Amino acid sequence: MSCIFCKIVEGSIPSTKVYENEHVLAFRDIQPAAPVHILIIPKKHIATMNDVEPDDRGLIGDLHIAAQEIAKQEGVFESGYRLINNCGADSGQVVFHIHYHLLAGEKLGALNAK
Ligand code: 5GP
Ligand code: ZN
Repeated sequence: MSCIFCKIVEGSIPSTKVYENEHVLAFRDIQPAAPVHILIIPKKHIATMNDVEPDDRGLIGDLHIAAQEIAKQEGVFESGYRLINNCGADSGQVVFHIHYHLLAGEKLGALNAK
């Protein structure tokens, strides 16, 4: 398995974990773009948002529940946070294991398509 995030799930690549349950793992981004920058992933390998299937409905919900919990842990539940999924080449997706970026900890800039 060459997927870097699957290796993080297995533990063969280290990460700074902030949240884990049976189906979900979250860890700090190695190149943070905000004071809080956490990646939230399913333990199951799904390459992109386009590969989500109806049976994954619960799992995608689990990622959102995890995001709430992490926001509480990080102290940004009230101040606010942004969840981003990049899907495919034009979005800038570089790791092809589906993930949400949770960004917070400062006033984030307006969303910008460029
Ligand atoms: P994408 O552009 O695919 O949405 O984002 C991938 C993210 O994964 C990037 O923000 C990048 O910094 C992060 N990343 C890539 N490799 C690693 C790694 O080995 N460990 C951690 N913690 N983050 C990584
Ligand atoms: Zn994977």
